[in-house]
Amino acid sequence: MIRRRIFVKGIVQGVGFRPFVYSLASRHALTGFVGNNSSGVFIEIQGSENAARAFVDELRHSPPPLAMIDSLSVADMPVGQDAAFVIVESEAQPAASTPISPDIAVCSDCLRELFDPADRRYRYPFINCTNCGPRFTIIQDIPYDRLFTTMRVFPMCAACEAEYHDPSNRRFHAQPNACPDCGPQVSFGSLTRDAAIQAAIESLRGGAIVAIKGIGGFHLACDAINDDAVRALRERKGRGAKPFALMARDLDGIAPYAHIAEDEAHLLTSKERPIVLLRSRDNPALSALIAPGNKYLGFLLPYTPVHHLLLGETPLVMTSGNLSDEPIVKDNDDALTRLAPLADAFLIHNRDIHVVCDDSVTRVFEARELPIRRSRGYSPMPVKLPRDGPCVLAVGGELKSTFCLTRGDNAYMSQHIGDMENLETLAAFEHAFAHFRALFRAEPEALICDLHPNYLSTRWGIAYAAEKKLPLIRVQHHYAHLASVIAEHSREQRTIGVIFDGTGYGTDGAIWGGEILCGNLDSFDRLLHLKYVPLPGGDASVKKPNRMALAHLWAAGLDWPESLASPVEARVLRRQLETGTNCVPTSSVGRLFDAFAALIGVRHSVTYEAQAAIEMEALAEGVTADRGYRFSFDGDTFDPAPVFRSALEDLRRGVPAPEMAASFHHAVAKLILQCCEIARQRTGIATVALSGGVFQNTTLLGLASAELAKEAFEVLKHRKVPPNDGGLALGQAVAGRHVLAAVSLASPPP
Ligand code: ZN
Ligand code: ZN
Ligand code: FE
Repeated sequence: MIRRRIFVKGIVQGVGFRPFVYSLASRHALTGFVGNNSSGVFIEIQGSENAARAFVDELRHSPPPLAMIDSLSVADMPVGQDAAFVIVESEAQPAASTPISPDIAVCSDCLRELFDPADRRYRYPFINCTNCGPRFTIIQDIPYDRLFTTMRVFPMCAACEAEYHDPSNRRFHAQPNACPDCGPQVSFGSLTRDAAIQAAIESLRGGAIVAIKGIGGFHLACDAINDDAVRALRERKGRGAKPFALMARDLDGIAPYAHIAEDEAHLLTSKERPIVLLRSRDNPALSALIAPGNKYLGFLLPYTPVHHLLLGETPLVMTSGNLSDEPIVKDNDDALTRLAPLADAFLIHNRDIHVVCDDSVTRVFEARELPIRRSRGYSPMPVKLPRDGPCVLAVGGELKSTFCLTRGDNAYMSQHIGDMENLETLAAFEHAFAHFRALFRAEPEALICDLHPNYLSTRWGIAYAAEKKLPLIRVQHHYAHLASVIAEHSREQRTIGVIFDGTGYGTDGAIWGGEILCGNLDSFDRLLHLKYVPLPGGDASVKKPNRMALAHLWAAGLDWPESLASPVEARVLRRQLETGTNCVPTSSVGRLFDAFAALIGVRHSVTYEAQAAIEMEALAEGVTADRGYRFSFDGDTFDPAPVFRSALEDLRRGVPAPEMAASFHHAVAKLILQCCEIARQRTGIATVALSGGVFQNTTLLGLASAELAKEAFEVLKHRKVPPNDGGLALGQAVAGRHVLAAVSLASPPP
């Protein structure tokens, strides 16, 4: 007879771990107990040596499907007295922390019950079990127990209570367990229960825009094949051409509209249920206003029981319930006021959402995931860091903002917060940070932010650091991009970074964005960059790619085609460029894509970031032509002047735009290879990290990867966090921690 104590850390709470341990122990005829505390799961087992060994092996190698074990320790104990194996009360420890499960899509067992007329939860929109349902968005504090969730206000009925306490039941200790008799309810105006769902379905069918309360906030939904409804949604939301996401009933419901590769099907049906960017079939049945000028459609499958009840034959537009540029709405009162101008009707429910969490967006590249927006289903799953370190808060950038809170070797990336350009988004940021701080019992020892003096996140960080008397560390934007790839891949050695991005503040005060860096988590050098061109009017040029084209042509000493601007606009701009009024030098490759797109006639102005570049990529798709445009090199800079010179000639010759678009992608891929060869010669390093928003462009990513692979470079790409600014905070956090460590080494305590 022996007794062992086992401690398990990782995602082990809210994932059916204790019932799993219970049945495992029972199967091996072991006595003892299992319980949660604030840092993980503790277990004591007593029985034969063989049984104890088999128990630990099985726990280690086939844990419950949603669990993720980080560590499992085993220690011998003196034999004790237990009559049976029991699940004991949770123990709260004020200073400890454990990872929290993200929200999980409704599981197949629950779905079967949802549509089984004999089941007591038949068509009940809040059905869940230990294997599925909301977690992150309903948890208010740890340990994960119903009392610390927004389910607290729904006392369980006798039947639910019995399931909750029955270790052989799938709902044993399922904290959000509920049924039609005791749990939350939906409503649609004065209608409730199934009548509410039916009314919502009819409204959608009739062309209405319906605000639907979900897991992490409200969606605005409408029939995706109803052009008028989609147009109305665009107009009311004040949303230009930015694509809308679509939800279809199942994979067969997507098939008429988009191509689905095997890996994409896998992601679409995963428990995370992200929006997956799929190649459009250009099916004319779908409203043309869903994703104008785009070859990709963002599809997701139902992830809450409500979605399964709502979805019919045709897909629905499912876009975040917010006004453009504002955070997603989560509370009923707020929705009924703020979304009133947008929605014709509301399908709400009475379970509170504690924190907002937007849908995630992802795509497949080289058979693996390339995240575009890491949010619901992923956050707050930690990114594992190669080593322990101090707790820091990195506040991210400005666009597609997320923050990163580290604890030990866990980097907790927040859900998508939005573009931090207004106070509403800042408030959402503060709320999300307060939530993370509580959930992970984390008190930052340092604050990390961007160099940009005017980012709202930076200004908030400066104020917070001052208030809490914390050291403030500022990390250059593109170095943070490089550091985020390095951290994802747990690299320590110096790496070449090709960081092609929209804009970021450089160490010289210029706006960077076409950078060849070399660095590790300690420091970086800037080896090469795109030759500076004036960015006339700063942000104005982001919205007006034609001005960027004119600036590039001006810098290259080339004539301006008349098609690019009206005589008045051209005259004003020329004067601005010549005098340098309100011009900032920039090396942005994002803006270079905009410029080239405008030149070949893709568009002169945009309604969302990178629209021109995305549409140019769509033009280039399937076109193999390479007209041989090439950049030139001059010292530490590369110059697009020869590319523009060739392009102007091609325009005069009437070369079709798709050929020019494809050639431009080839030119940039060749440029990347040339830069990396120069960097390898100078440094002897043959590992290249690709990051920055430009690498969401999979056409470029594919071409560049192929070029680099041919010349024996090892290429690191983003697989866990986005290459855009949504992944920035991870790099800030890891680079900032190194600065902190270096400072404390330099000044040892007396
Ligand atoms: Zn379930
Ligand atoms: Zn019940
Ligand atoms: Fe960036």
